[in-house]
Amino acid sequence: MSDPNCIFCKIVAGELPATVVNRADGLIAIEDINPKADVHLLVIPERHFADFREVGVLSADESKRMLEFIAETAQKAGLEEYRVLNFCGAGAGQTVFHLHWHVLGGTIRGMPA
Ligand code: AMP
Ligand code: ZN
Repeated sequence: MSDPNCIFCKIVAGELPATVVNRADGLIAIEDINPKADVHLLVIPERHFADFREVGVLSADESKRMLEFIAETAQKAGLEEYRVLNFCGAGAGQTVFHLHWHVLGGTIRGMPA
């Protein structure tokens, strides 16, 4: 459920600081430490799993809630239009191996289209 070497698990546990913008139902949204857009948030399930290929570890209800939470987080951040991105695997640009969704609003810079 949790990986002691994972930075996002440490953030979930409060062992690493982060700016938390939304939290509910086993999900957390934080500001990206190295923002590549005017608004750059990360939506992270509290439960550790490496990437999108393992999304089946979530139940149908948990998956639905995760998607709703992404939309709610964007709305709460005042975004009407935005991008939701996931990088799945190192070769696709993933650097933190705990599933997360990038929510990008406003001007985007330095992020693959
Ligand atoms: P990815 O390339 O999809 O794995 O994205 C990982 C993201 O996590 C990057 O945009 C990083 O800037 C961000 N990140 C890494 N460490 C932290 C941290 N301690 N707090 C917030 N965001 C982080
Ligand atoms: Zn983790």
